[in-house]
Amino acid sequence: MNAEFVKSAVFEKDYPESALPEIAFVGRSNVGKSSMINSLLGRKKLVKVSAKPGKTRTLNFFNIENEIMFVDLPGYGFAAVSKSERASWAKCIETYLTKRDNLKACVLILDIRRLPSEEDMDMLGWLSETETHTLVILTKTDKLSNNQIAKQVRLIAEEVGIDKEHFFLYSSVTGHGKDNVWEALRSVAGL
Ligand code: GDP
Repeated sequence: MNAEFVKSAVFEKDYPESALPEIAFVGRSNVGKSSMINSLLGRKKLVKVSAKPGKTRTLNFFNIENEIMFVDLPGYGFAAVSKSERASWAKCIETYLTKRDNLKACVLILDIRRLPSEEDMDMLGWLSETETHTLVILTKTDKLSNNQIAKQVRLIAEEVGIDKEHFFLYSSVTGHGKDNVWEALRSVAGL
């Protein structure tokens, strides 16, 4: 799939001029966000798989086939971050979610092996307050058996308070879930 890095931005004035529908990706550091974006695009290294968690501090825009823009939002939950860094991260994301007309949906990524963290819950709350259409994807399913997957889906659904049918299951290692996710992304993007 043809995908091109467009630019990085922190402030609204730096967002690319574009009419493409945008899908934003967010999740805690190390959840597998870069791997998921690369896997959805069938690319090995378009988005750097972070050796050092929490390094990305900017919004990164990728033009996919001139049809849709993927926006990689900076990850959260990295312990060694100062209060002021956290505040500027929050401001950056809040501005993007509230001001960007191109934004069609946000993909929130959770690790299927873990219950959502407080920050995951905050993020979900924010997405709901800003009325951002949200797809929750549970990734790293290849690490669990089918029984364990079913159990985790149930537990996470309970914790998040949404119906378990609304989750997408994914593995960046096997590509499992790719077709379903793409179908949903195309649909929310109006393609
Ligand atoms: P990011 O910080 O959210 O961008 O996370 P990365 O994409 O850098 O992934 C963090 C780690 O999890 C890396 O070691 C990846 O190889 C691994 N990882 C990511 N996705 C998967 C997955 O679906 N299955 C497995 N088994 N490992 C994964």
